Amino acid sequence: MADIIWCKKEKGGKPCNTVNYLDPYCFWNWEGKVNCAECGTVYYIYMIQGHMYKGPEERPGEKPDKMPLYADKPLEGYVNYRPGTAGKTAPFECIPRHFLLGKADMVKFSIRGRPVRGWRPQPPSAGIAGSFPYKWDIQKLSPEVWQEYQEKLKKREVKDW
Ligand SMILES: [Zn+2]
Repeated sequence: MADIIWCKKEKGGKPCNTVNYLDPYCFWNWEGKVNCAECGTVYYIYMIQGHMYKGPEERPGEKPDKMPLYADKPLEGYVNYRPGTAGKTAPFECIPRHFLLGKADMVKFSIRGRPVRGWRPQPPSAGIAGSFPYKWDIQKLSPEVWQEYQEKLKKREVKDW
């Protein structure tokens, strides 16, 4: 990021406390007005080589020239405005392809055919993040994975290398 605008505008008796991120590509050498993604307050900034030369100064009633790339509220956990949120953040064309959005694949077996430890569901006794520090009783915990593993062994699909 070239810089941020931490918006402190009072809204409903509370400061807005939204951090608006100004990415170097758009704002490195730039003069103009940019909005806060949360409350819409318009700020004038003048940036030279990534440094805030003037501003941010509030410009009430004026329209922004550009929107921030991304904004979040660090004091409220993970609340954020991702790139491409209409009317809040700058349009963003580089969104991942459809199959890269959504859920991660759960993998039961490694490339050599051995069961991996991350398979769910893991019982609470697994400890932090299902880590099973010393022993992982796959037969008891995931009988269906164990069954599949036995079949893989029979079919000689399990390799050491
Ligand atoms: Zn704001």
